[in-house]
Parts: sequence; structure tokens; C-alpha cells
Amino acid sequence: MSKLAAFGGTAAVPRDRRHVDWPLVEDEDRKAVLDALDGARLVSNSDGANPVSTLEERWARRFGHEHCVAVSTGTAALSLALAALGVGPGDEVIVPAMSFIATGLAPVHQMAVPVFADVDPVTFNIDPDDVERRITDRTRAIIPVHLHGAPADMDRITDVARRHGLAVVEDAAQAPGATHRGRPVGSIGEAGAFSLQATKNIPTCGEGGLLVTGDAGLAEAVRKGRQFGEVIEAGRDRDYISYGLGWNHKMNALQAAFTDAQLARFDAYEDMRQRNVAEFLGRLAQLPGLRVPTALPDTTHAWHILRFRFDPAAFGLDGVRPEALRSALRRLLRAEGVPMSQYQLMPLPDQKVFVDRVGFGSGYPWAVTDAPAPVKGEGYPVARAVIADSLTLQKRHLHPGSGELLRLYADAFEKVWAHRDMVATLAGARS
Ligand SMILES: *Cc1c(COP(=O)(O)O)cnc(C)c1O
Repeated sequence: MSKLAAFGGTAAVPRDRRHVDWPLVEDEDRKAVLDALDGARLVSNSDGANPVSTLEERWARRFGHEHCVAVSTGTAALSLALAALGVGPGDEVIVPAMSFIATGLAPVHQMAVPVFADVDPVTFNIDPDDVERRITDRTRAIIPVHLHGAPADMDRITDVARRHGLAVVEDAAQAPGATHRGRPVGSIGEAGAFSLQATKNIPTCGEGGLLVTGDAGLAEAVRKGRQFGEVIEAGRDRDYISYGLGWNHKMNALQAAFTDAQLARFDAYEDMRQRNVAEFLGRLAQLPGLRVPTALPDTTHAWHILRFRFDPAAFGLDGVRPEALRSALRRLLRAEGVPMSQYQLMPLPDQKVFVDRVGFGSGYPWAVTDAPAPVKGEGYPVARAVIADSLTLQKRHLHPGSGELLRLYADAFEKVWAHRDMVATLAGARS
């Protein structure tokens, strides 16, 4: 049995094999950006074909969305969708207790109060039963997140929303390509938001976002919202009249051109990624005490982030705290060259902005309602348990050529599992 790297042995993943570029920038991307730079249409604020409208059309066609509106970021897409749906001061929006911070901030941007619901222990997505418990007469919308690329339980969320007359805005920032019963995520609720931020599955060379919807009126409202409330119509000069509250959340042409080139290679990348990840998870699933992420039946998982949960009892360390086991495994795996990390250090409701109600001054938007503030460290037992007993792998596996690297990662896991006595010692187990 070879010695653990943490104690002077040779690392399972050699140093010169560890670096992975993501996004993967190819000659087609460089050419697309340079062509856009040389073209006449560097702005998207007027009518007519330009790299931004081209990306909107191609994204909608590839994934099967009726309308697609390109905006500056995924966060802007969420905020604009809520604004277009009429969510405003005094309203409540239910969001998962585990997500990226933007999901919780988007309602606040509209002066609405985010209300957090606990998540499912397997998919890490919002729990429809807990959503239902948290509905009040102020609730207007639900934002299910397809976290890590796993589709949320859209059947039950749609059912809850319908029975209570709520809008559903899908946060699909981590999930382009994911499907739920054959339908593309983002198109199941009233609207969906994607992020093109450089680390996401389909990236741009910076920041970008897309709003998709099956509702032409909603798409129109988002178009207005992204550009000062103006209406841009084919064959008519821009009149600089603002018809409603608007922002400047336009996407720029270079970023659209870059993503358009990436989109053309998405299917080829995705095939490889699905194969690489399936092989990797298949090996890791054999290790006792390690719970690998899984795709639920009738869904496609986009594998944006791979989250592994560790179960001390199944590992043979009954009575050891999950945090202690996790920290021992993190140290040993990192020494072997596997960049395990935490994604989200706390449930969203523990974030200072929500606990201290640091909003628009004088406690707004919370001051509009009598909704209680979240109390740090309280509630959301599933989100807390998942955060305490799991680690993630990010970015490396998105590269279509990561198959060999993932085999080395699997070697590292198996090596660490072969030294379970050492893990037990590091985790502080009593022998
Ligand atoms: C990245 C992300 C966002 C925000 O997207 P940006 O483009 O970075 O604004 C929102 N929600 C989730 C779940 C994300 O991962």
C-alpha cells in the first residue's frame, strides 16, 4: 500500500497533471471575438442582427426555449424576471436555503423579501413541502434553483405554485443542458435565468446572462427592463422614451460572440463530460461512507459541481462528527492532488445581509412587512447537514478532456480509503 502524500508519500495526481483550463478557449472563440470587434454592431441597443441577437436565437433553438433575452449577468436575469412579473415591495419570494447568494439577493433588488425553504438531502434542491409550509398571503413567486446542474423537483414545485397562484422563476445558472422529463430547465416555470459567467458550463469571457421564457409579453417586459424601459422596434429609430422602470443590463457584443462560439461546441463537450463523470462517479460509488451525486430518473444532470457527502457511520467511524471526517478527508485528498473544496460555507439565511437586514437603509425591504428575520444558526436542518458533511469538486471536470485526470482523482480517493486507519486518527476517532 503506497504511503499517503500527506505523510511524505508520492501524490496520486502528479503536479504536472493538475492544471486544467476552464473555460477552454479555442481558435473559434478567438476568431468569433475578433470578427465581432471588426464588425459594425458593437452595441445591441438598436434593432437589427448583431452578435447579441444571434446568440439569443441560437440559444433558444438549441435548448428549445421560445424566447431568449441576453442580459449582463445571471443575477440581472433573475432580477429582471421578478420585476417583469410585477414582484415588488411587500412581496415575498421563496428561495432555497442552499444556493449561490445571487438567488437570495434578486428578490431584495425588487424590494421583496426572500423567504428561505430547506433543501432535499439527495438533490440539494428546494424541498416542495417546505415551500408550501412557508407560503403566506404575501408570497408571489418561488425561485427553484437547479443546483450543481441537477433539476429541481419541477412537478411538485409547479403543483404547489399552481394551487397557490405563484409564479415560478427557475434559477438555471448552473444547469444549461439539464432536462426534467425531457423538458429543458428554464422553460418549465414562467421564466428561467442562465449565467454565462466564466466558470459556468457554457461560459463567456467575463460576465453574461440569459433570460428564457415561453411568454412573449414577459420577454418584452425584460427587453424593456434591460434597456432603460425603452421599446426597441424593428424598422423604427430609437426614440429614447422610457415606458417603465428600466436598468442598463445589456450584454455586450464580444461576450455574446464568445458564447455563441462555445455553444457550437457544447454538444461535443457535453457528450465527453457525461461519459467522464459517469465513469468517475461509478468508481467512487464503490467506496463505503461516500455518497456520490446522482441524477434522478427522467432527468439529465449537467454536473456543474460534484458534491460528495461523507457518512461517518458507513465509513466505520460511528460517533465521529461529520465535520471532523470531512476535514480529515479534505486534508488527505488535497495532499494527493484532488482540489476538494467547500461550496457555500453557510446556509443562505445565515448570510449577514439577511440576518442584519442590510438592504436599502432603515431595514428595507424587510421593514415593509412583519416577516421575521432569519436567526443565524437556526433552522434549515438539511441544508446545515449537507454543508457540514460534504465537499465539492469544481471546474476541472467541465473540461471535455478531463477523463484521465478524473481517473487519477479516483485513484487518490481509493488510496485514501485504503488508509482508513489514518483517516480515523486524523478525524479524532477513539480507538
Ligand atoms: C452563478 C450563479 C448565479 C448568478 O449568475 P451571475 O452571472 O454570476 O450573476 C445565480 N445563481 C446561481 C445558482 C449561480 O450559480
